[in-house]
Amino acid sequence: MLGYFNNHYHGYAPENCLDVLEMLGITTPNQEQMHEQLRTGQARPVARATTLTEFANLEVSSDEIEKMLLEFTDARWLERARQIKDVEILKEEPDLLAADVGGYSIYMDYNGRFILHDCQDWERGTARRRMCKHVAALLLSLPPEKSRVLLDLIKAQKWDFRPYTG
Ligand SMILES: [Zn+2]
Repeated sequence: MLGYFNNHYHGYAPENCLDVLEMLGITTPNQEQMHEQLRTGQARPVARATTLTEFANLEVSSDEIEKMLLEFTDARWLERARQIKDVEILKEEPDLLAADVGGYSIYMDYNGRFILHDCQDWERGTARRRMCKHVAALLLSLPPEKSRVLLDLIKAQKWDFRPYTG
C-alpha cells in the first residue's frame, strides 16, 4: 500500500500521516506520543522552521563538532587531528563513507553501525571506543552538519569500533 500527502502548508503533513496510521491501527507508542503532542500543540513539525533566521539556528559550528569529538577522544588527539590535512574521501553513499586519512583507511558503515580503521592507536582504543587522530580528522573535515549527524548516531547507537584487517 502507498500513501501520498501533498500538504506542506504549516507543516501539517506529519500530523495527517499519523492520523492515517492511527486509522489503520498501526501506530507505535512513539508515534502515538508524537501524535498527541502535535494535536495539543506541545510539538510542531520541524518543517515549520522556514525563515532564514530559523535556518541559521540549525547550522552547526566546527566548535560544536570539536566539543562532541571530545566525548570520544582527548584534547591532545584532537590537536593532532587538526594538523592532518590529507583527508581524501574515496566513497560517499547514503549508508557508507570510505576515506583515506594520512595514509590510513577508514570505513564507516551506517547500517552495520561500525567503523573500521587500521592504525595502532585506533586498535588500542577500540574496546573503550576511543577515536584516534585520523578518525577525528575525518570528522573534522566533513561539513559540520554531517559530522554532527554521524557523531549523534555513533553515540546513540553505540557503534562498534573495529580494527581494519581487510
Ligand atoms: Zn588512526
